[in-house]
Amino acid sequence: MNEFDFIQRLRDQTRSRKHSTRLVTGIGDDASVISELAGRAVVVTTDLLAEGIDFYREATPPRLLGHKALAVSLSDIAAMGARPLWSLVSIGLPDDVWNDNFKDEFFEGFLGLADEYGIALAGGDVSRTVDQIVIDSILLGEVSSGAAVLRSTAQPGDQIYVTGALGGSAAGLKLIEMGARVRSPTVREGAVSDEESETDAIDFLLLRHLRPSPRVGWGIVLGEERLASAMIDISDGLSSDLAHLCRESNAGALIQSAQLPIDKDVIRLCGRRALDPLALALHGGEDFELLFTVHPENAARLPKRVDGVAISCIGEITNQPGQVRIAEKNRIWDLEAKGFEHFRS
Ligand code: ADP
Ligand code: MG
Repeated sequence: MNEFDFIQRLRDQTRSRKHSTRLVTGIGDDASVISELAGRAVVVTTDLLAEGIDFYREATPPRLLGHKALAVSLSDIAAMGARPLWSLVSIGLPDDVWNDNFKDEFFEGFLGLADEYGIALAGGDVSRTVDQIVIDSILLGEVSSGAAVLRSTAQPGDQIYVTGALGGSAAGLKLIEMGARVRSPTVREGAVSDEESETDAIDFLLLRHLRPSPRVGWGIVLGEERLASAMIDISDGLSSDLAHLCRESNAGALIQSAQLPIDKDVIRLCGRRALDPLALALHGGEDFELLFTVHPENAARLPKRVDGVAISCIGEITNQPGQVRIAEKNRIWDLEAKGFEHFRS
C-alpha cells in the first residue's frame, strides 16, 4: 500500500467517526481548519516518541504504541486544565515496518483512545526513516479564557495533591528491561484483589508503562472549576516534576512520605526483585498522573473521585524557593530531583 491509499483510508475512518463538528476541514487538504469560539483559548502540545529511546520496538505492541502516543499528549492537555479536542500524528517508518501490520495496529490503538474522549484526528504526516520508528503526536484542546492551569502559580500554604498511584510505570519498565513481555493488552484499574496472581500483577505493571491512562476527566474538573492553583503531569518522575513546578512558582515543597500513594502492585512485587517501591514512586517516570496544588480554601470543593480515580494529599507548598523536602518518620531531608532526563550535563 502506498501512503496516498493509506491516508485515504485514514480519512474515511475519521469521517465515519464525526467527532467535533468544529473541524471544518480535516485530513485531505494542505492544512486543517478549525473554527474557534469566543471566550475560549486554544491549548496545544506535541510529543516525540523515538524508538530505542522512548520505547523498545520488540517490547511494545504497535496497538499500545498508538495508544501511548495519544495518551502522553492527553496527559499534557489535562495538566493545563483543558479539554482535548483535535489531534495530529506524524509517523516516520522504515520500509519493512511500513510493509507489515504496524501502521494498521498503531492507528487502531490511537483511534481507539481518541474515540474514548471524542477526539478528532485532524491531520498528520507520513515519512520514511532509515531504520527506526519515530512518532510525533500533536494535540489541541480548549479551556475557558484565563482558566489554563500553569506550573508557575502555586502559593506557599497550598496543599499538594496527586491523582492515582505512583511507581507502576517505572516498575513496568524495569520488568521489560528484565525481559518480561505483556500477555494481553487489556487494562485493570484499581485495587489488587487477594486472588490476583503474580502474573496478573506483572501484566498490570507492564500495562501501566505501555498503556498509560491519562487523567483527562480530572484535568477538565480542576481547570473549569478553578480548583487547582498550579499543575504539571508526572512524566519525568515526582521528584523532578515537583521541582519543575516549584522552580516555576518560585516556591518550595514539603512532602510527607507516608502519604505517597505507592502503587500496590509495586509494593507487592518489588521486595523480591530488589527494587525500592518508595524510590520508584519518587523518581520513576511516565506515571502520567497529575500533580497539582490547591489553595486550602478550595480543598473542600475537591471531588473524591473523577472517572473512578482518587487523589491523595501528599504535602504542602512552602515559602523556601527551590527547596523540595520530604518528611519520613522523624526525619526531613532534601528530595533530590532524580527523574528522567534526555540529556544530562
Ligand atoms: P503535504 O504533502 O501537503 O504535507 P500530505 O500528503 O503529507 O500533504 O498529507 C495529505 C493529508 O493527509 C493532509 O491533510 C494530512 O494532514 C493528512 N495526513 C498525512 N499523514 C497523516 C497521518 N499520519 N495521520 C493523519 N493524517 C495524515
Ligand atoms: Mg500540501
